[in-house]
Amino acid sequence: MDCTEVLNTLESVIGQSDGFVSLHEPTFAGKEWDYVKECLDTGWVSSVGSYVDRFEEMLAEYTGVKRAIAVVNGTAALHVCLILAGVEPGDEVLLPTLTFVATPNAISYCGAIPHFVDSEEATLGLDPHKLSDYLSEITEVRGHECFNSKTGRRIKSVVPMHTYGHPVDLDPLLEVCERYKLVLIEDAAESLGSYYKGKHTGQWGKLSALSFNGNKVITTGGGGAILTNDEEFGALAKHMTTTAKVPHKWEFRHDMVGYNYRLPNINAALGCAQLEQLPGFLLCKRVLAQRYQQAFADVDGLRFFTESENAMSNYWLNTLLLDEPSSEKRDELLELTNGSGIMTRPCWTLMHKLPMFADCPRMDLSVAENLEKRLINIPSSSSVGGHHV
Ligand SMILES: *Cc1c(COP(=O)(O)O)cnc(C)c1O
Repeated sequence: MDCTEVLNTLESVIGQSDGFVSLHEPTFAGKEWDYVKECLDTGWVSSVGSYVDRFEEMLAEYTGVKRAIAVVNGTAALHVCLILAGVEPGDEVLLPTLTFVATPNAISYCGAIPHFVDSEEATLGLDPHKLSDYLSEITEVRGHECFNSKTGRRIKSVVPMHTYGHPVDLDPLLEVCERYKLVLIEDAAESLGSYYKGKHTGQWGKLSALSFNGNKVITTGGGGAILTNDEEFGALAKHMTTTAKVPHKWEFRHDMVGYNYRLPNINAALGCAQLEQLPGFLLCKRVLAQRYQQAFADVDGLRFFTESENAMSNYWLNTLLLDEPSSEKRDELLELTNGSGIMTRPCWTLMHKLPMFADCPRMDLSVAENLEKRLINIPSSSSVGGHHV
């Protein structure tokens, strides 16, 4: 791999820019100003207002679920998904080691123990076949519960994450969930606009979490959402995230320990305007990914990562996978590109290597460790390459 050739290829796709090209920045080309101004003009900026309802309805319709509940961020969404799934202190929860720290953090908030699973190169996500083999060795199913024979703890749930927008192989994973009585929770924080076998990600799990952080496909400044097809969970999620207040004309009464996780109206206003533009963003991102794919086809020592055959990815973050010998030059490439005003980033440090999760249970993680060495994200905003909506 010739680092200068990679830089030149990136520049050929990105085109001339005066300054720094970031990894992912938001585009505000719709009705953001109008909707936010309306919040300010009417005074409805906070915990009550019509944009929250509207944003939730738009999200449910777009993703094809019965209920969407807007919350303060994606981590809070994951936290509530885990509580509703019945995760209790001392339980283990399966998740890929190749993920963002929010996933194991949310599991820890429940007093549960993250249990790390390997990934597969085809999707960059949790490997359902390797998980199946592993669970057959280490678990025992008693009644409707699965126990880790080594630790004696219950394994309650599995939280796959759709890495950079690429859906996990969900069908075999659903089979594993069925066999081992695991509740499927999708960390769909990165995959708004991504589909697996024609169905939107976040529809497959019992519960799913989205994020609208500033670097995601659409943003509300900070924000997230819980998705579910279960009306009861939907109602409970809304109740729990709004301090569990019992509706009444004047009384302040709360019937459980709730959370102040509701998304403020002013953020939801931004979300409505952003969601209206999502199809346009996705189109731009797809064109950009295709241009990268073509440009990198003839570059030795790496490949541009593309969606698997079952998937339609939102290409949230475009990804280069270096060949094994080239991985030695990863840092040199990061140095050169960032020094030249093009932001590139390596993979997250794998979760089992972080001090607070170092002692957590895990399977063989060799594929994730290999991917960690070879993976680089490149500029992916919908505005990159002049395809502005
Ligand atoms: C962004 C993200 C989240 C949630 O992040 P927030 O900043 O809390 O909205 C969760 N998991 C993954 C994989 C993410 O990328």
